[in-house]
Amino acid sequence: MKIKFERYHLQSDLLSPLNGFEPASVPTEVRIDPLTKRKSRIITWSLPSKGKFDFSQMIDESRGCIFCPENVLLKTPKFLKEIIPEGRLSAGGAVGFPNLFPAGTYGSVVVLCGEHFLNLHQFTPDLYQEGFSVAVEIIRRTMAYDPDARFWQISQNFLLPGGSSILHPHLQVIGDPIRTNEMEWFLGASSSYTRKNKTLFWNDLVRTEKELGERYIAAFGKVHWFVSFAPIGANEICAVVEDHASLTTLGQEEISSLARGIVSTLRYYYDQNLNSFNFAIYSFSGEDSHQLLLRMISRTPIQPYYLNDWTSFEALQSELTSNIYPEVLCREIRPYFS
Ligand SMILES: [Zn+2]
Repeated sequence: MKIKFERYHLQSDLLSPLNGFEPASVPTEVRIDPLTKRKSRIITWSLPSKGKFDFSQMIDESRGCIFCPENVLLKTPKFLKEIIPEGRLSAGGAVGFPNLFPAGTYGSVVVLCGEHFLNLHQFTPDLYQEGFSVAVEIIRRTMAYDPDARFWQISQNFLLPGGSSILHPHLQVIGDPIRTNEMEWFLGASSSYTRKNKTLFWNDLVRTEKELGERYIAAFGKVHWFVSFAPIGANEICAVVEDHASLTTLGQEEISSLARGIVSTLRYYYDQNLNSFNFAIYSFSGEDSHQLLLRMISRTPIQPYYLNDWTSFEALQSELTSNIYPEVLCREIRPYFS
């Protein structure tokens, strides 16, 4: 089944002070997500970059945080003995433990490394591979204890614009018996797609994107990387993992492919003078119509008096905007995946 992409061209006409008050037209594109039918706006202008931010003062002021090696095994919480008797889990430099301030039934943190701060070009695939291995083990052990906790996310909030108050690189691992809104929309739409077409939406999407070649970036093993047709954030990059719906079934090969693509994306973000980002992996157990999905976006880079990217459009109209055409982003980021 071939996926159809729907878009609307809008145009704003005005007399521009930038051009002697001659008539000018500014285009905007509204795109409809082929699965969720949610609208996104592609805006064709953006503010110029202010260059790279100097983090040295921020690092000095916050060094020795609760996630730093001298504190992490002394000051962070431990898991209940019934779930993880060791108290905490680790792999390489990654350490996982319950979140002292959770946002769900099972909220954990995985500290990625001993380094208090890494800039985007300093993250390595090994670091994410170790972090994901710890996160997946937390999920497996928790689900063995509570099989009703079927809906999981591994996410990263990096720096203040990304919603993290702690500089030290870490992941959030959150599991619940109920779905988030986004999970609800994915599952509702993908199960009705499968009922109607007898195929999996994500397989059809990957096939269509590969044929079109405009937004498909690369495949690392069973992990397909692409740019969304209708992004819900800036510089949005996605990945789906063939034959997997849940993080609990992943092998080391898939974990390593996810890690590699995240680091490729971060290197591109760094070269664009970006420094803050979010990603989320949506993991559902026992759902045939879902495929494991990762979605990653950049946030407004941290700098003095930074401009937030969540305007009334996003916050109050539920309409997400992006400042780059997905097809242009795909062309720019492809070399980072080779
Ligand atoms: Zn630290």
